Amino acid sequence: MTDPLKFLHDEVAELKDQGLFRPLRVLAREQAARCVIDGKEVVNLSSNNYLGLTTHPRLIEAALEAVRTEGAGSGSVRTIAGTMAGHMALEARIAKFKHTEAAVVFQSGFTANAGTVSSILGKEDVIVSDELNHASIIDGCRLSRAQIKVWKHKDVADLRRVLAEVAGQYRRILVVTDGVFSMDGDIAPLPDIVAAAEEHGALIMVDDAHASGVLGRNGRGTVDHYDLHGRVHIQVGTLSKAVGVLGGYVAGPQVLIEYLWHKARPFLFSTSHPPAVTAACMAAFDLLETEPAIIERLWDNSRYFKAGLADLGFDTGASQTPITPVIVGDTKRAMALSDGLFAEGVFAVGIGFPTVARGKERVRTIVTATHTRDDLDFALRAFEKVGRQLGILPVRV
Ligand code: PMP
Repeated sequence: MTDPLKFLHDEVAELKDQGLFRPLRVLAREQAARCVIDGKEVVNLSSNNYLGLTTHPRLIEAALEAVRTEGAGSGSVRTIAGTMAGHMALEARIAKFKHTEAAVVFQSGFTANAGTVSSILGKEDVIVSDELNHASIIDGCRLSRAQIKVWKHKDVADLRRVLAEVAGQYRRILVVTDGVFSMDGDIAPLPDIVAAAEEHGALIMVDDAHASGVLGRNGRGTVDHYDLHGRVHIQVGTLSKAVGVLGGYVAGPQVLIEYLWHKARPFLFSTSHPPAVTAACMAAFDLLETEPAIIERLWDNSRYFKAGLADLGFDTGASQTPITPVIVGDTKRAMALSDGLFAEGVFAVGIGFPTVARGKERVRTIVTATHTRDDLDFALRAFEKVGRQLGILPVRV
């Protein structure tokens, strides 16, 4: 009898053949700018811990206090017995921060995106989506059973072409884009996207996972960055990256939030955050509002590191944010660069097809506010050394 798992063995073997199989790297202790991964001390350029808040004493204290007074878990989904005062307080805080009527917190950014898109649209509707939107948006689109139309990355003329094509054919149109794209670190041209969507009376949604705590005043996101308040119906953010904890949220009109309470399946059918999560998130919003210098440090470090990579001669693509790709154009080369960097004490992941298009394979770097100049210089020296060894940079004569 053949092994029912044979197909999985075959698939994994194929990943190995293609150089795409990656064992999981294990952090010995906390997520930090310098940390210990697989037993080796490295400068970490792979986390989304943009502001270093995962280890901030104020977040840690808030979490500990919440555990002591409210316990380790919430014990229920939000819609039964799992809505605690902390959840409501955090949502009110986020709504105020985002200048929206209301907000609702999900267990992750992924479930916020997938749960929202899938619940507000149905088979009579169409979703118009940037081709590089995040997997959680794509899964939400599929679950909604709406038609999905894709526009070329950041190409508003192409978005207009798609909108003209779908006009009048569907019950509702949702135009959805990432605010900051996770692989290239570029920013969506939101003012033009919003103008095009408004002409068609479309719903507009932005996934600000990589803009939350990073872009806009005090890290309020892409809508604030472009001053488009009131014109984007659905703003999704994450609490897992710059905010340093875990979760996602939707900020928007009260009616949208009330609808999601009743219809968004992860909200209805999956247990809510434990008190430590909401308390630590509250502490993070305190910091965003009172210590914006942390965000400035993130941007200073980003500019410094990006300029360093470009000066060495690397192709850093279209990045405008702390996410900086080093594009090498081939999966094996990307993985070799990542491995070589690791051997030199720098952790930056290699990313291949299908996560990025063929020819755009890369090592992705993300600096944080907590990297020192020494850390960044150390990383740049490692990039130079390994880049020359692999022939990505010309060998110096
Ligand atoms: N959207 C984008 C663009 C992301 O990069 C991510 C995280 N990889 C998410 C959503 C999901 O966020 P979370 O990690 O909070 O589930």
